[in-house]
Amino acid sequence: KTEKFQNFVQLMEWCSKATKMGVRTNADTPEQVKNAVAFGAEGIGLTRTEHMFFEGDRIDAMREMILADNEVNRRKALKKLLPHQRKDFFGIFKALDGKPATIRLLDPPLHEFLPHTKEQQLDLANKIGIPVETIMQRVHDLHEFNPMLGHRGCRLAISYPEIAEMQAQAIFEAAAQCVKKNIPVHPEVMVPLVGYARELQLQVEIIHRVAAEVKEAKGVEFDYLVGTMIEVPRGAVTADEIAEYAQFFSFGTNDLTQTALGVSRDDMGSFLNSYTENDIYPKNPFASLDATGVGQLMEIAAAKGRATRPGIKLGICGEHGGDPSSVTFCHKLGLNYVSCSPYRVPVARLAAAQAAINSGDAPVAKKATKKKTAKKAARKAK
Ligand code: PEP
Ligand code: MG
Repeated sequence: KTEKFQNFVQLMEWCSKATKMGVRTNADTPEQVKNAVAFGAEGIGLTRTEHMFFEGDRIDAMREMILADNEVNRRKALKKLLPHQRKDFFGIFKALDGKPATIRLLDPPLHEFLPHTKEQQLDLANKIGIPVETIMQRVHDLHEFNPMLGHRGCRLAISYPEIAEMQAQAIFEAAAQCVKKNIPVHPEVMVPLVGYARELQLQVEIIHRVAAEVKEAKGVEFDYLVGTMIEVPRGAVTADEIAEYAQFFSFGTNDLTQTALGVSRDDMGSFLNSYTENDIYPKNPFASLDATGVGQLMEIAAAKGRATRPGIKLGICGEHGGDPSSVTFCHKLGLNYVSCSPYRVPVARLAAAQAAINSGDAPVAKKATKKKTAKKAARKAK
């Protein structure tokens, strides 16, 4: 091991001693988990399950599910996806070896899964035995002008509860497998794009029911949490109502920035320069929370969430979770953790430690302060 690497390890150790806030990772595969854990990640803050459906025969089953025009056909396609998902989650739990795993239920903009070209449509028609005309009609029916504001996040599972059911079943069956193999496991099931408490309530009912069914069927016990993303302004300002059903909140600041500023996260490049040059944006708002107003929404949500559920677990999993100045803000807000992509974990750890030291919250700094206060008191007594 090089000297540089040893220095890095030493620095990271110091960070861990000083830090109050945890650092997790956004990861969708066991390989990403392993990398992030090697960098010191304390768990997963976000697994985007929609990323699990693009490879091999999964995309066909996914398309079949999305294009199905009735529940029976949708369930048939979901049955094909269940074993894949179970395997995915088991792999992730195993790689985490007991560290917490926040698994988010499906949140795709639908168009990413639709077969758009004639070739794809014909291929799918052959594979799943549906006339190509039917497929073309469904693709037409499902078209959205604004997919990012459309049928995504929990809206999908409100329309089709069987999707949430399949994913919950896969998560809990994978957890049961872990228990049977003596692998510690802590799933945290996360519902995306919640703006109404009722949306979360409906999803939470499904998740708890499926957990009880799996425990009964497999004859095992395991703990789990159910929580939500806070990523639309209505979710933030009604966080007191939402916290009735959420054991944790994770701030999805990518969507929260998009919806709070009314700026498309996919298209802002065209005017970013003129906005920074004219001092409207101090920085790219999708990279830093500075002066976006999104931080204020987070403050409101944290206060409201804590009012309903004192000690509610709070994290962030938007891109801002790996940005040093945003990490400082998260520290001040008292978040339990920030979560970022594996390679940003060391920087986030450094920023979290600096934030704790600078604000006098670091355990090491506290000790020193205590000593100083004791010395002062002794001097006074003399
Ligand atoms: C977010 O919106 O901040 C988030 C983490 O979710 P995604 O980027 O997958 O929409
Ligand atoms: Mg989001």
